[in-house]
Amino acid sequence: MKIKYYLFLILLLLGTLCYSASYMSSVSAILPTVADTRTEVELPILMYHKIVDGTSPSDEYTISKERFESDLKWLRDKGFTTVTTRQLIDFAEKGEALPEKPVLLTFDDGYLNNYLYAFPLLAKYHMTGVFSVIGSEIENASEQLNRNPLGQSMNSSEIKEMSDSSYAEIGSHTFNLHRISERKGADKIPGESQETYENLLLEDLNQNNEYIEKVTGSPPLLFAWPYGAYPPDRSADKILKEAGYKLSVTSYQRMNTIQQGNPECLFGLKRFLRTPSFDIEQIF
Ligand SMILES: [Zn+2]
Repeated sequence: MKIKYYLFLILLLLGTLCYSASYMSSVSAILPTVADTRTEVELPILMYHKIVDGTSPSDEYTISKERFESDLKWLRDKGFTTVTTRQLIDFAEKGEALPEKPVLLTFDDGYLNNYLYAFPLLAKYHMTGVFSVIGSEIENASEQLNRNPLGQSMNSSEIKEMSDSSYAEIGSHTFNLHRISERKGADKIPGESQETYENLLLEDLNQNNEYIEKVTGSPPLLFAWPYGAYPPDRSADKILKEAGYKLSVTSYQRMNTIQQGNPECLFGLKRFLRTPSFDIEQIF
């Protein structure tokens, strides 16, 4: 009889513990997210292009993977935390907390070397970055493994692998406007009618969004203006918004201030071009 009584008590205790655990987890799921006490936060954004192995020649847009790793170590040691575009949007729209010292890492043009060298290093340091890709280049990229990492693009499988991880998100760098001809990138041609320009831009952005969504399962939130060229009156921001973007980045080299309650501040963000010719601490 006594044994049955103790068994009953143990079962009762176990039942109570299980119920409390499930109750606690459901409570934590509905707890409000932590608000940021700051109304403004400084946000440095770094802009990378090619990350190569140490024996490749470097130019203004190319740094070695060793140098890139030393950037990541420096950022970590100085207390910076890499953030996603979603975190920036949630701060600007809803006041959700950002890390003490946020930094956004961006990579333009979608080179294969980004997948080979930058992505594994981001994973090694548990950091994240936005890789802005040109849809038409990805669509034409080979599935072969022995491609030249210097000039060739990532392919759709590599982009999918990166996007599925916690260390990369995919941004947009136009579907097919990344060139300099009469038009510089996605900028307006002087004298072109506003309507013609807006139709052309929207069509290209939508095409890239659809392509990226097909590859990764979600549309991009960030648009990187090719060559940093865009209409100076910022009239194209409304086209970006119409296409579903929440952030855009340029090539002006300055610090940003992100403000709570002002999602507009996420358009026209400035970035520091990471060249091999200086030490990273000179930027901050
Ligand atoms: Zn570019």
